[in-house]
Amino acid sequence: MGALKSMSDSHRLLRSLREIMAGGALSPQEKLNQIVSLIAHDMKADTCSVYIQRGGSELELFAGYGLNSDALHRTFIRVGKGVIGDVVENARPLALSDIRSHPRFYVEPKIGEEDLRSFLGTPLARGGRVIGALAIQNKFNRLFSHNDIEILQTVSMVLAEMIVAGKIIKSDELRLSNSQGDMPSMHLRGVALNTGMAKGRAVLHQPHIAIRKLVSEDSERELHRLFEAIAKMRASLKTMFSESDLSQDPESKEVLETYQLFAQDRGWLNRIQKAIESGLTAEAAIGKTLTSLRFRIAQTKDSYFRDRLWDFEDLANRLLKLLVGNDNQENPFQEEGVIVVARSMGPAELLDYEKSGIRGLILEEGLHTAHVSIIARALRIPVISRIPDILTKVEYGDTILLDSTRAKVILQPNEEETDLFDERQQKLVEHKSKRASLYSLPSISKDNVAVSLTLNAGSPIDLAHLKYNTFEGVGLYRSEIPFMMESSFPDEKAQERIYKEVFDQAEGKPVTFRTLDIGGDKLLPYMRKPDDENPILGWRAIRIGLDRPFLLRQQMRAILMASQGRPFNLMFPMIACAGEFWQAKKLLLKEIKRAQNKHDLSFAIKVGAMVEVPSFAWELDQLMPHLDFVSIGSNDLFQFFYAVDRTNIHLVDRYDPLSVPFLTFLKRLIDLAKLHKTQINLCGEMAGSPLDAAVLLGLGLRSLSLSPYRIDCIKHTIRSLDISQIERFVSQLLVKKTGNIRQLLHSYAVDHHILLEEY
Ligand code: PEP
Ligand code: MG
Repeated sequence: MGALKSMSDSHRLLRSLREIMAGGALSPQEKLNQIVSLIAHDMKADTCSVYIQRGGSELELFAGYGLNSDALHRTFIRVGKGVIGDVVENARPLALSDIRSHPRFYVEPKIGEEDLRSFLGTPLARGGRVIGALAIQNKFNRLFSHNDIEILQTVSMVLAEMIVAGKIIKSDELRLSNSQGDMPSMHLRGVALNTGMAKGRAVLHQPHIAIRKLVSEDSERELHRLFEAIAKMRASLKTMFSESDLSQDPESKEVLETYQLFAQDRGWLNRIQKAIESGLTAEAAIGKTLTSLRFRIAQTKDSYFRDRLWDFEDLANRLLKLLVGNDNQENPFQEEGVIVVARSMGPAELLDYEKSGIRGLILEEGLHTAHVSIIARALRIPVISRIPDILTKVEYGDTILLDSTRAKVILQPNEEETDLFDERQQKLVEHKSKRASLYSLPSISKDNVAVSLTLNAGSPIDLAHLKYNTFEGVGLYRSEIPFMMESSFPDEKAQERIYKEVFDQAEGKPVTFRTLDIGGDKLLPYMRKPDDENPILGWRAIRIGLDRPFLLRQQMRAILMASQGRPFNLMFPMIACAGEFWQAKKLLLKEIKRAQNKHDLSFAIKVGAMVEVPSFAWELDQLMPHLDFVSIGSNDLFQFFYAVDRTNIHLVDRYDPLSVPFLTFLKRLIDLAKLHKTQINLCGEMAGSPLDAAVLLGLGLRSLSLSPYRIDCIKHTIRSLDISQIERFVSQLLVKKTGNIRQLLHSYAVDHHILLEEY
């Protein structure tokens, strides 16, 4: 009922909005004034305001119903300041029944906001960039409903499109321009996702696809257009992938198949469908869905979701092109080669460019695990990512030197820089031709030590990699991932279905389920964000599970029922003291007993704990005999060891896991487990980094759990390694040295021909 009401509300509002925009005699400002008045009346608000970010970091008040009209175009608010600045900075809606309770609350003088009590603001966003905010306010403590937020988001989407299309403000005024005549060469640093060197001219990926028609006259027709476009898109993807040479390469094939699976994903198609039903055209509905998906993803720093987002984005852009018709751009730099510069990209788009002579790729955002990186590696296209704001620095047609062996980009190079580059590139080509591929060989070191490799997984797509014998099983099943994909908390039956699929896909290979690890940087979109001052140190993981035992028991019950007696491993995240482990285990034993009595099942379960909090390591002497296994969560362990927020970009290189204190700590854990004959593995990112993995084996570890996409390079490292030799070297370093020893370890690896290549 609520949803239907929201649909008719937004239909009405959107229709009126369209009528205002069609009013030819009015100036853009007059139209905007009418729009804010319309929104305020329709949504029963006392005020409605529009802020637009024009050419800098300040937000300008462009329209304000119910506010002091003298303040228009004279009020400027810094991004991040006040509640409006908060909406823009965090790129997400903010609903406050008491605006004064917000830590960023302040009253901007002379606007006339003094009496206002409640606030609902949504970002004006297009293409992942926030260009302003739309807000309504009331003089009483209004509790805004989910429907209110949805409606304001839909209106914001339409308004943002109008702004970008130049209907409210000249579109070039929105851009943070850098074209100040002749530019000297510019050196930029990033992170290499695929090594190599390339020279070419800049082509900016996805020039804006203008969505001209936003409000629909006939939702049925729009749905029909959507389904037609989807069918066309699927057919063209299928043809493209079957024609691509990559279908021979097992890893790429996997990615392309996965990608096609995404194209069928009901979740995001449903969301587009709902947006059409709320009164948008098919193309506007795609735009809106993409924007709100980004808001959700922006709340989590989880790399898994970011990577999947690029796939969704790629598909959405394909659909947009099919609907709006902008699909055949010529490449004018065919001769010289092109370097594509993008905020992000999906794998199919890369294949499109491959046909038109792409030589290199620069991304503002992107990780090793992104599908586009995997395809780029298979196509031998060098990729550099995480160059902030590259799209505002580069112009179409600029000459670019891309050197991802040094994680560096030079824009508009001079002659000397170009000559040096050519020389280095020649040397690199000679070196690469000597390297042969060693795929699918066993993970045994040069001195015949076997290393067990298991998979880190969170979705059926990751689990599909189990079909390669390389992986002995799942070392870490991140059970929160399917929860993050849902739009409401999955009940016991829904969870059971998810876990049953995991067991089925594993086909008897051992699976280690980790109980819910939510909180910190992993938020569920439908759960209230805890008001922790320090979320990373806050109410998260097992702490939530023990305080809300119903959630934990429900999950245990679902896993037990899904197993139907098949063996599995269960571990608890973020255990800080032995008592927490015992409490969690007690709940498990209760659930096992219950399931045995009720369903006459018997179970074979190994129970373990993650070592992620240093304090726990100091109780392991006593606890080890009672644990079936321990798993080192090095991501969190390192974060708490050095008190360094793992998501803070300013601290990325400050401390190093390859340092005497951290490695000594890990060695103690590994030795302790050996002493008690308790199985131990490591499932953090260290396991997927060649040098770190070599050093872990040098510390005595023999089991690593890693992302499917890291398997290739890690296996190369293992097979080129003499484990007993590196064990001796690492032991010596730990007694003789202090501080960071990465350089020494790296030199050792180079001297001993250990393969450390990042593919
Ligand atoms: C870890 O902390 O190392 C770990 C594997 O868990 P997550 O990355 O999911 O926090
Ligand atoms: Mg962790």
